[in-house]
Amino acid sequence: MDFRKDIAVIGGGPGGYVAAIRAAQLGRTVVVVERDALGGTCMNWGCIPTKHLLHQTKLFRELRTGKAFDGPVGDIVLNWPRVQAEKQKVVDRLVRGVEFLFQRYKIEWIRGTAALREDRRIFVRLSDGREQVGEAGAVILAAGSRPAELPFLNFDGTAVLSSTEALALTQPPKALLVVGAGAIGLEMGTIYSRLGTEVTVLEIMPSVLPGCDREMGQRFELVLKKQGLKVMTRFRIESGVRGDGRVILKGTCLKTNAPFEFAADKVLLAAGRRPNSDLIQDGTPFLALSRQGYVEVNERLETNIPGVYAIGDLIGGKLLAHKASHEGMAAAENAVGGRGQVDYRALPMAVFTEPEFASVGMTEEEAKAAGGEVRTGTFTFQANGRALTMDSPDGLIKIIAGPDDRILGAHILGPCASELIAELTLAMTKGLKVADTAESIHIHPTLSEAVMEAALKVHGRSIHALN
Ligand SMILES: Cc1cc2nc3c(=O)[nH]c(=O)nc-3n(C[C@H](O)[C@H](O)[C@H](O)COP(=O)(O)OP(=O)(O)OC[C@H]3O[C@@H](n4cnc5c(N)ncnc54)[C@H](O)[C@@H]3O)c2cc1C
Repeated sequence: MDFRKDIAVIGGGPGGYVAAIRAAQLGRTVVVVERDALGGTCMNWGCIPTKHLLHQTKLFRELRTGKAFDGPVGDIVLNWPRVQAEKQKVVDRLVRGVEFLFQRYKIEWIRGTAALREDRRIFVRLSDGREQVGEAGAVILAAGSRPAELPFLNFDGTAVLSSTEALALTQPPKALLVVGAGAIGLEMGTIYSRLGTEVTVLEIMPSVLPGCDREMGQRFELVLKKQGLKVMTRFRIESGVRGDGRVILKGTCLKTNAPFEFAADKVLLAAGRRPNSDLIQDGTPFLALSRQGYVEVNERLETNIPGVYAIGDLIGGKLLAHKASHEGMAAAENAVGGRGQVDYRALPMAVFTEPEFASVGMTEEEAKAAGGEVRTGTFTFQANGRALTMDSPDGLIKIIAGPDDRILGAHILGPCASELIAELTLAMTKGLKVADTAESIHIHPTLSEAVMEAALKVHGRSIHALN
């Protein structure tokens, strides 16, 4: 055996590296096999690089459109190569941080591609082609997911792009078609739209962020359109053709049954991701998988093979970094005999457009479908002093409560929504009531007062809105 540890983790993304650190904190010896960079998709090709590009393009847009600025603003250009270089610096710094933590926790990192055998032995192909075999008391699979292609349109790295390639373009395209109005599609579309690219987002479902609260989704779509993003919902793409430096997407508009055709110099496929479950099994496949290929786990995050756990994008659900990390902590605890759990009822998500969109728990439609009395309270940022001083009044907060006043869900379209949702996530995690948020004193003038007002509104006693 080349290595033998208490815990082996396959994949060093936010699921895997967090699981490794937690296992080391619990006094176990740990090895992580990661074929690429520590930090995984999130740190290297996902959450962090997108947020850097979103921040820089937001500043650029504000400089060009800010009402109070005077002078030759038309001369301001965004130095895109510099933005890209700075983006890489941020990524590298965070990756080095994980490497440092690994050293401190004495976690071994093997750079290679791992595959698991049914007998739980791990085969690793190192980057120089050599092979290693190891074993561990428990294995945590955290191999993540990768962008999915369309049946009739493959990635080619130049005209048909994955999110990874779209993040690294050396210059903004003239026109970009984005397939999929999920978080990734809307964030990437926003980045390039702010740089002057003509962006069209095509979505087969009736609203942006399919599955989100209907009212909030409709508001969000209007705001995006106001910013110049062309958002086309209920558009089914049926074919894609490349040629003459352009890609043409054809299909049917499901609202009118009319055919459509869109052309652009680049297409970003952001309509889904597929789990890497096909890449981590050696020999005859033995892991129980869902129909879409996600690894199936029980409530302890254990697969059908005892002692083998799986977490993060690999097991499906919402493909979010913080979900992967919480599952990583829980799996590490379970792997050493603990009782780690993840509370999926209170799993928040965010889209980092401007305004941001964030949500936790049930939509109004889900709450009503679940039966029982449902009460809602909404509050618009138009009536929030801080949002007005920030010139960011677009948006709304909606809190959904059950008959016992417990918060069932909360949805925020507005400035800093990704931060504001934390208060309501905590409330949901701890089973607090709407009254707890309503009665808690919030600083004035802050955006968080809008959370308090929405809570007051559930009880018909909002101060700054008519009840
Ligand atoms: C453009 C984009 C933006 C995103 N923005 C956000 C965001 O703002 N917030 C958010 O919460 N989520 C965001 N996500 C989603 C987030 O990145 C993922 O949910 C998260 O990275 C999943 O973590 P993971 O550990 O399960 O998998 P990953 O991060 O994918 O890590 C898996 C790791 O396993 C390695 N690996 C795979 N197979 C093997 C093997 N056989 N041997 C060794 N190593 C292997 C891979 O190299 C990878 O490093 C974004 C994703 C994208 C693409």
